[in-house]
Amino acid sequence: MRTKSILTEARQIETAVTLIQLGARLQVLESETDLSYERLLRLYKEVSGKSPSKGQLPFSTDWFMTWQPNIHASLFLNIHEYLNKAAELEDIDIVIKAYRLYLEQIQAQGLEPLLSITRAWRLVKFIDNGMLTMTRCSKCGGHFVTHPHEIAKHFVCGLCNPPARAGKGKNAGGLHIH
Ligand SMILES: [Zn+2]
Repeated sequence: MRTKSILTEARQIETAVTLIQLGARLQVLESETDLSYERLLRLYKEVSGKSPSKGQLPFSTDWFMTWQPNIHASLFLNIHEYLNKAAELEDIDIVIKAYRLYLEQIQAQGLEPLLSITRAWRLVKFIDNGMLTMTRCSKCGGHFVTHPHEIAKHFVCGLCNPPARAGKGKNAGGLHIH
């Protein structure tokens, strides 16, 4: 089994620094490394030049179900699933790699990344514990983040069926998910 404990300390520091650079919340570092809170706090201040934001992580699945966030989350998760099958990497390294590829794709389209690394990490946890899943769109065939038990036969994604208030082709228009 792949667990965080097999990471050496040097690797853990490297992982923590990478996560901080990508904007991860301190709670992500606490969960993914065995480094002490004090150590992580020092590291965070050193790398980011500021104190970590306080307060709870957003622990609800609701955000992932709203229109544009859902498209961004689905794009990330498709990349993540692909890497998860293809590469022999630590779980957290797959999240980091998938997140970087997500950023590349979003920026290549001239879009703002709506999904933070913290939310991306959280999304993978929601998938792992069965609170969210992926369902195939009955129109375009792309796989999208949904609640479990979505009826695949009738499911239509946010790209095929954008809400009426959405501007024509704006923001999400350039994205394709397969
Ligand atoms: Zn679709």
